[in-house]
Amino acid sequence: MAYTPALDRAFAKSLSLAESLFTDIGERTHDGVGITRATYGEGEQIAHDRVAAEARTLGLEVTTDAAANLYVTLPGRDRALPGIVTGSHLDSVPRGGNYDGLAGVVAGLVCLASLRRAEVTPPRDLTVMGIRGEENCWFSAQHIGSRAAFGRLPPKILDTAVRADTGHTLAWHMADAGADVDALRRGEAYLRSERLAGFIELHIEQGPVLDEAGIAVGIVNAIRGNVRCPDVKRIGAYDHAGAVPRRLRRDAVMASAELVAAMEHHWQRIEDDGGDLVMTFGQLGTDPGAHSLTTIPGLVRFTFDARSHTQGSLDRVTAEMRRLADEIGRRRDVEFAFQPFTGAAPAHMDPELRRRLGAGAQALDMATLELASGPGHDAADFASAGVPAAMIFVRNRHGSHNPREEMHMDAFTDGTRLLLWLLVNWP
Ligand SMILES: [Zn+2]
Repeated sequence: MAYTPALDRAFAKSLSLAESLFTDIGERTHDGVGITRATYGEGEQIAHDRVAAEARTLGLEVTTDAAANLYVTLPGRDRALPGIVTGSHLDSVPRGGNYDGLAGVVAGLVCLASLRRAEVTPPRDLTVMGIRGEENCWFSAQHIGSRAAFGRLPPKILDTAVRADTGHTLAWHMADAGADVDALRRGEAYLRSERLAGFIELHIEQGPVLDEAGIAVGIVNAIRGNVRCPDVKRIGAYDHAGAVPRRLRRDAVMASAELVAAMEHHWQRIEDDGGDLVMTFGQLGTDPGAHSLTTIPGLVRFTFDARSHTQGSLDRVTAEMRRLADEIGRRRDVEFAFQPFTGAAPAHMDPELRRRLGAGAQALDMATLELASGPGHDAADFASAGVPAAMIFVRNRHGSHNPREEMHMDAFTDGTRLLLWLLVNWP
């Protein structure tokens, strides 16, 4: 296979498919403000059904696994060869943007449609995967579909994870979407790394790097891992704001502010040492039921999220957080309570696939930029399952997880053309 002028013409003609899928799925999952495609919910199902219907029209094979992930396959000449999978997720955050996730599935479908139109049979199976449940916000559990596909979803969360808006368990919602929950409880894997030649995920960039550089397409070198605490409580003592001298106060706000400021200094030190790190304290606030203008705050709650390419930086930041909380707590006589930290290891994209993407960009005379991904992606789960994984980023304005997200079709076209080049030039 090669990227021929005939294939490029077929590609140009297949792009109308992308426009109609983006418009149709976008309109049908619009919530009045943005896009809502809840994990194992209505909007996600609309996207799955629409993509599956389109795939059947194109004469592609359509299957699902026990987690109700969608697989659309253009059969290869030798079906015994390990196949190539591309794709992304079809859920979204509430009031999110249309392209987060969907762009990767549509890009894959455009590639298969182009090959069909050009009457090219690939040497090995090419599959587009519509992945379920990538977003963390619905079940406080991320990458549900990709983990389940490899039999790596801890069965416990089927019954303990509860969807934020409905209160129903993950098992309930999965069954509702047609998943085989019993197979998931047994940890059955649908995908096996030895049967996969690689996984490539096209995704909009969720930060400003490509837009700032004026470059349409990025090649991801690594996906940052993270360490998180969903609830940190800082417990001091409520008291009269006018009556208590400084040395006797047990002020939860002052203690929290000191911790946050000290952690930012620590972040700076890690950067000075050449380390990669981003850090966020969120949802920081006093208890509205107990605070007032004239009350020394006795309780502050906040969340903590740190991300890095290197596990060492994540370990350093966690250790420093605990040390500081302890030291400040003793000095200011406030207690601290951390909910258990959760984490995900950093994932490095396959060097050989990155090299090939670079060669493809050169062959197509396309400027690209190597960059890291701050947000997590399903590609990390493929990488950690032992599958060579790569990501193509497409320039996008105004960030992500909001309705102002803005991907232009010319950037999408470039990213998808590079994906197609990689698929047809697979050795
Ligand atoms: Zn996404």
